[in-house]
Amino acid sequence: MSLNVVGQQQIILDLGTGLQYLGHQIVKEKKPFHATALLSHLHWDHVQGMPFFTPMMSDDAILDVYGPAQESGVQLQTAITEMIRPPMFPLGIMDFPGTFNFIDISDNDFYIGDFKIRSRQIPHVGNTLGFRVEIDGISVAYLSDHQQPYDGSFTVIESVHELVDDCDLLIHDSQYTPAEFKQKFNWGHCTPDFAVQVAKECRVKRLVMFHHDPLRNDSALDELAQMRVSEGLEVIVAAEGMTITLQ
Ligand SMILES: [Zn+2]
Ligand SMILES: [Zn+2]
Repeated sequence: MSLNVVGQQQIILDLGTGLQYLGHQIVKEKKPFHATALLSHLHWDHVQGMPFFTPMMSDDAILDVYGPAQESGVQLQTAITEMIRPPMFPLGIMDFPGTFNFIDISDNDFYIGDFKIRSRQIPHVGNTLGFRVEIDGISVAYLSDHQQPYDGSFTVIESVHELVDDCDLLIHDSQYTPAEFKQKFNWGHCTPDFAVQVAKECRVKRLVMFHHDPLRNDSALDELAQMRVSEGLEVIVAAEGMTITLQ
């Protein structure tokens, strides 16, 4: 997924399978490539597009990847270098023609061009970040994988408020139905109802349900979303290739 603002670097949110489609678009544009990726965590579904990202086959391409420092003190670059290398892939990540720059972050506030970026640790499985990106008075919060409290409460913790409060668009984990969550309560995810709670408590008007369970089909997703539409909250189901314009 990417955030595109005229005159600014492209901001890419996570580096999963959708990155391949984005790469094809970028290559077609035939322009010098320098973008920033905000990486939530290192689970496969968030990094496996990286070796297939064709813009990096050009030797003047640059991708700055901001992602979570690892528990054991292992740097982000070291962890990714261990994941993407022979024999798992023909090329090591640092052997691509383009340049990957890896920057370890945790709870930080920083700028990329005119984008104001906030990263905060959020509950999942292993070190995981959520992000808030603001520019020209417009704000987007991205919490791709968010563990709902085990205790049955819908408590929204402070770091989540810091990311989400009053933002224009919230892209949030909605992986499990309540019945599935009972079985997989400690798998690091949440229900659409918890996503709605986060949206409402943080005064957000547009929620994008994201991180769908791979077994869910389109009609099941529509049904899950329809059930959560309520006064003052627009609920959108994320789909490959979808564009949302904010102004
Ligand atoms: Zn994960
Ligand atoms: Zn995930």
